Amino acid sequence: MLINLTDVLSCEEKVVKRTVETEFQSFDSSLGSFPLTEEEPLNLTLTNLGGDKLLVEGEQKFVAKIPCDRCLTETEVPIEIFFSKEIDMKQSAEGRIDDLDETDFIDGYNLDTEKLVYGELLLNWPMKTLCRDDCKGICKKCGKNLNEGDCGCDTVELDPRMAVIADIFKNSK
Ligand SMILES: [Zn+2]
Ligand SMILES: [Zn+2]
Repeated sequence: MLINLTDVLSCEEKVVKRTVETEFQSFDSSLGSFPLTEEEPLNLTLTNLGGDKLLVEGEQKFVAKIPCDRCLTETEVPIEIFFSKEIDMKQSAEGRIDDLDETDFIDGYNLDTEKLVYGELLLNWPMKTLCRDDCKGICKKCGKNLNEGDCGCDTVELDPRMAVIADIFKNSK
């Protein structure tokens, strides 16, 4: 959604609060596509700081479905974004393009809430996802989810350095 900023920029110290529904439904990045099972509205506050400076603050809550890093079970992960950004509206459009990560959500006198929130989700995306802290993962041999029970495979692994020595012995025979 595009929010026109002319109103808040019309007089200094003006504050505009908006509640904006977003419709991402999923978060798509280089890591994959993740469904957003909960998507609360964005609470946005725009403050005219004077001198063509605009303060953009907001918060929004999501719940994303992300596969567990160890066993790949889809796990619901709450993600909250909070941001507070000061924007210099005097900067030329070119200046903003150079400074992509900060202000690419401002286009002329419009603020693109989708772009803004997408950037914040990217920044706040969890580095690690586990279905539970003690997730046992999946068996490397048979692929069974070990949280559901032991598979009985012999999973004793050779130290990789020992494996090299074992290979040397094999080849010398
Ligand atoms: Zn897991
Ligand atoms: Zn197994």
